Amino acid sequence: MIKLKTEAQIEKMRAAGVLLHSVLTALRAAARPGVTTLELDRMAEDMIRSAGATPSFKGYAGFPYSICASIDDQVVHGFSNDRPLLQGQLLSIDCGCKLDGWQSDSALSVVVGGGNAEAQRLIDITERCFWLGADMAREGNRLGDIGHAVQTYAESMGCGVVRDYTGHGIGREMHEDPSVPNYGYAGRGLKLQKGMTIAIEPMITLGTWRTKKLSDGWTAVTADGSLAAHYEHTVLVTDGEPELLSFPGARISEALR
Ligand code: MG
Ligand code: MG
Repeated sequence: MIKLKTEAQIEKMRAAGVLLHSVLTALRAAARPGVTTLELDRMAEDMIRSAGATPSFKGYAGFPYSICASIDDQVVHGFSNDRPLLQGQLLSIDCGCKLDGWQSDSALSVVVGGGNAEAQRLIDITERCFWLGADMAREGNRLGDIGHAVQTYAESMGCGVVRDYTGHGIGREMHEDPSVPNYGYAGRGLKLQKGMTIAIEPMITLGTWRTKKLSDGWTAVTADGSLAAHYEHTVLVTDGEPELLSFPGARISEALR
């Protein structure tokens, strides 16, 4: 069931988004060579709890951490650990928080310490996939328009679009209806309505779209070992330019310029 949000509920999701954006901004800056993902995980949890919110991922279906920290060929749901990050690694950080009963969900990828042009190119493509998809989150469009925009661009750049994991509705719950795939056909699927809130989250690879799961039961890696990147925001469907609830002040039209 799709739950349309009222203006008062959207205001609460904005507040959760402002907090989550500050957390991910801090993690992006902290993700330097020598730092461990466990340190980033603790940083995220501390920031979220200090703001009176809860980390949504910790304990979700038994997931043990506050962030998903996925390195290189790891697509999503990677476990934090005490190994120092290395220069040039592609690190994807996914995080969610619940503030005053309302959720926000966002992810980004970075090259640790820079100096990896191949990984940076993939990150740039993945972010552009997001912006192109998010631009479709307008009243009257269809769900397939979002996936089609993501898939068309990614594949035109020779990249793979992960299918085993998708975006999702979000609100009081981290995962609500509908599922928001990163592939699809324009003009097909559910009609989008003003007041819908969805997490759009392309996961793009330099190789295959196929993934497999590691023995920890969570970590998804590309089946061919190619690099993967992830970019996600919580998006409000409107009758004009969609609003990025987890990226205050961002404008899709400017990102796509
Ligand atoms: Mg996420
Ligand atoms: Mg998500």
